[in-house]
Amino acid sequence: MSHVIADRDLSSKNASHLKHTTSRCPSCYASVAAEVIESDGRVFMNRQCDEHGGFSACISSDSRFYHEDPGLSAKGSHSPRQNPTCIALIEVVDSCNLSCPTCFASSPRSSGKSASIAAVPLEELKQRIEHVVADKGSIDILQLSGGEPTLHPQLMELLEYTQNHELIGHTLINTNGVRLAKDSDFAAALSKAFKPGRLQLYLQFDGRQISGQKELRGADLREIRKRVIEVTAKMGCQGLPITLAMTIIPENLNQIWDTIEFGLAYNHIRGITIQPFFSSGRSVHHKKTIPPKINVADIAHSLIENSKGILTPEDLPPLPCGSPNCATIGYLLKTAKGPESLRKYIDYGQASDKIKDRLNFNLDDLSKCSCSPTEIDSLNVSESQTFRISIKPFMDAWSWDEDRIKQCCTHVIRKDGTLDSFCRYYSGYPEVIK
Ligand code: SF4
Ligand code: SF4
Ligand SMILES: [Zn+2]
Repeated sequence: MSHVIADRDLSSKNASHLKHTTSRCPSCYASVAAEVIESDGRVFMNRQCDEHGGFSACISSDSRFYHEDPGLSAKGSHSPRQNPTCIALIEVVDSCNLSCPTCFASSPRSSGKSASIAAVPLEELKQRIEHVVADKGSIDILQLSGGEPTLHPQLMELLEYTQNHELIGHTLINTNGVRLAKDSDFAAALSKAFKPGRLQLYLQFDGRQISGQKELRGADLREIRKRVIEVTAKMGCQGLPITLAMTIIPENLNQIWDTIEFGLAYNHIRGITIQPFFSSGRSVHHKKTIPPKINVADIAHSLIENSKGILTPEDLPPLPCGSPNCATIGYLLKTAKGPESLRKYIDYGQASDKIKDRLNFNLDDLSKCSCSPTEIDSLNVSESQTFRISIKPFMDAWSWDEDRIKQCCTHVIRKDGTLDSFCRYYSGYPEVIK
């Protein structure tokens, strides 16, 4: 029996073999041998489940954006414990004030009353974080997530602890913005708790167009997001820095550059993280058999086409950390003539040693490794004059490549303080330990 759920035939004559790996059956999640092939400029992953037959998924619609992996033996890393941890995410509540159809955490909706919020006690959170710090030496970025982390009744105490912790670089609040927009007391408390240089907001933002809003969030939240941007602009001297977190489905694929143009107008919006939609959490239950529609190459093409010459494929290289297929990064510089790619001034290839194992690399790191350091110095730019673009393709069973998991540097802190790969933690696979 063979269910070929694919946009191509599994046995293309023109295909060339790229590698073997281990993937998953999208129907039963069994671990299965897989082959990655290139055909007509596109990259596919083919696999065969003993019970459910063959499956093929296009994992890159342009092979220029699929990168040969140096391989595990070359890197020698095998588990979250041994790998660098660029981001450690911790779920602080299991409740949310929205019920997005695409929620990766499948968070239950709460009435908003504190009694109905499933929050992890502060002391427990500290223990889990300390466990990671003891194990890894430090945490570059600690991302508070959920659910909706702003619902945590002791969020300000938690922020006090994380921002003052000398072994935690930055704290990121992964938020839908609803509470910040609607609750002025909460906004005032956050403004007071905010320590510049130590805290950022990772704000869910799916574009300023109407299409895709309801499909992603079950509601049109554009006014809420605008309000958050206004409120945070007044925090501290220069505003509370924001990274826009945009989930991409076909409905908003063409709006990514527009979102960047929107973000460029605000000094405290420092960048965008673009995530192609993947089946996990809540979406798994009804989308399990739908192959991924959008991949990194589609996003890169959308950016290149809509930026009208500002971005080229060379401006969007893989981040030299973990697998090159796990993160793509670019930087824009705000100039009097409009945005330019920072690559005009800095050789990203030369920068790669310095930014290795750091998703959170910044202007200092870049200027240190520029081939001509004076160039970036003479630009005399500050962090708020740059805008970072990162594409983060999390995996589901369709795109699963065990080689990427083994080099993973984006981790979730489990209840016992140990780490798991973000992709695996939210995969819905039966063996996952929360
Ligand atoms: S995606 Fe975020 S905002 Fe939406 S329901 Fe899940 S936790 Fe809440
Ligand atoms: S979480 Fe997934 S996409 Fe991110 S680094 Fe790990 S394996 Fe790669
Ligand atoms: Zn199967």
